[in-house]
Amino acid sequence: MTERVCLVHYHEIGLKGKNRSTFENQLVTNLRRALRHFPVAGVSRISGYLLVETTDKQATEELQRAVAQVPGVARASLAYRCGLDEQEFCNAAVKALGEAGNFTTFKVHARRSSTVYPRHSIELNQLVGAVLCENFPDKKVQMHDPDMTVYVHVVQGNAYVYAASIRGVGGLPVGTAGKVVSLLSSGIDSPVATWMVGRRGATVIPVHFSGRPMTSDTSEYLCQDIIEALESAGLIGRMYVVPFGEHQREISLAVPQALRIIMYRRVMYIIAQKIAELEGAKALVTGESLGQVASQTLDNIAAVNEAVTIPVLRPLIGSDKQEIIRRAQDINTFDISTQTAPDCCTLFMPRRPETHARIREVLEAWNSFNHDEMIENLMQHIEYIDFNQCPSYKPPKVLPARHKELAPAEFVTD
Ligand code: ATP
Ligand code: MG
Repeated sequence: MTERVCLVHYHEIGLKGKNRSTFENQLVTNLRRALRHFPVAGVSRISGYLLVETTDKQATEELQRAVAQVPGVARASLAYRCGLDEQEFCNAAVKALGEAGNFTTFKVHARRSSTVYPRHSIELNQLVGAVLCENFPDKKVQMHDPDMTVYVHVVQGNAYVYAASIRGVGGLPVGTAGKVVSLLSSGIDSPVATWMVGRRGATVIPVHFSGRPMTSDTSEYLCQDIIEALESAGLIGRMYVVPFGEHQREISLAVPQALRIIMYRRVMYIIAQKIAELEGAKALVTGESLGQVASQTLDNIAAVNEAVTIPVLRPLIGSDKQEIIRRAQDINTFDISTQTAPDCCTLFMPRRPETHARIREVLEAWNSFNHDEMIENLMQHIEYIDFNQCPSYKPPKVLPARHKELAPAEFVTD
């Protein structure tokens, strides 16, 4: 039986010149982890692709779909692997085109990266093309923009033949862009922002502020579900959980009502910055989108941002809600995010929040409560959960307490 393998294409990595092998090695590691539930025999490099082989030599569409979810993958193709026998690979080309779905026009794209095989690419194109024309007499060859292309790639003593490919998520392999700390609520936006920076190669450490003990811990469970939904992308390291309820109450009693949210956010940013220092992360990430809600005006963003020195990435700043929702559906977080959960966002909310905060008033409010002591106290009560999703994640040496309720059993040692 002809073997089936999965070819992984990654054009963006191809552009990276000297860094190329670092990127390829990281992608190989990430694919191995992402495919750990499949019977993978090996992931190796061949002439501009990665090659995923299974122990039974029959890679499946399910495996192909899993490959396509991994950041750095531009396309994934299920290919027939044949020897250099022309009859065999021509038959595979007929099969590949027959399985590829509806089409009226097609072409052959043959490439030879092996001198073991005597024919040039042009001859190879003609050879396979002639067999396909014979087998698909009512279809037309069209060189420019055909409905379907049959690829035949001769490399290292084998011919790889495929027609239909699926698009991967693109981006860069997680672990090639350093660490970031992402402020993760259980809302729609921040999971999308988290995924987007992960797709650009960052290892992401989410931090969630819970209303506990003033609210239930439902939002923490939703965040855990969100992280599990993102599992196939392999971008999450550890999640930190900060029980914030008591301190929010303290803030709400101390500052003018309209400025409460800004104060909550400043505390969140500072805690996130401290976690970033602990983790060696170089930026924060939020799900803010310009003008979407009261706290996301330019004035308010500036009033919050003023509290930290670390760069804050806002990948959704220019996105419309509909675009964000569509992406949330694609990455399977939307249905989780639309479940209602009280978190610290819903706690002690002002009736009329400030939309254009003035920095003088913000600083006055900020200095009206002992924020340093509050932050120190919060840092002492921080909890964390490990997910074992991301091969590039290395935990820091200094550790606050584990989240006992949520930590998966395998990580609880006490
Ligand atoms: P989201 O859909 O991500 O909850 P949102 O539209 O509700 O965002 P805000 O409530 O203003 O907007 O939050 C802005 C950003 O602040 C969020 O995208 C997230 O990055 C961060 N944030 C808000 N609440 C929390 C929280 N409880 N824990 C961690 N980060 C939060
Ligand atoms: Mg929210």
